[in-house]
Amino acid sequence: MKVGIIRCMQTEDYCPGTADFKAIANKTGVFEGVEEEIEIVGFINCGGCPAKKALLRARELVKRGADTIVLASCIQRGTPIGYPCPFAKKMKDLIIEDLGESIVILDYTH
Ligand code: SF4
Repeated sequence: MKVGIIRCMQTEDYCPGTADFKAIANKTGVFEGVEEEIEIVGFINCGGCPAKKALLRARELVKRGADTIVLASCIQRGTPIGYPCPFAKKMKDLIIEDLGESIVILDYTH
């Protein structure tokens, strides 16, 4: 599995992504049950509100080899302060519509 992770730019100010990297290393959270090796192709923020750049970033991750786009927990779960992204649905819909079904989209990391 080759993952490209997109995170919330607002959250990036105070979160270094440790839990995301741990979830991948330990195969927990959304990665539980994955048997193959997980390679991180890229780890990038959404580009800021209102997430118009997220699709461009997802495209770039795929261009660089990602077969799976992961929206980090800060986006749809609002981790760690319980404040989900108000643009999350639009962001995800645009990515799915553009990249098609050949790319797996995961809704959280940990
Ligand atoms: S668009 Fe959503 S994910 Fe991106 S910075 Fe704004 S709140 Fe965070």
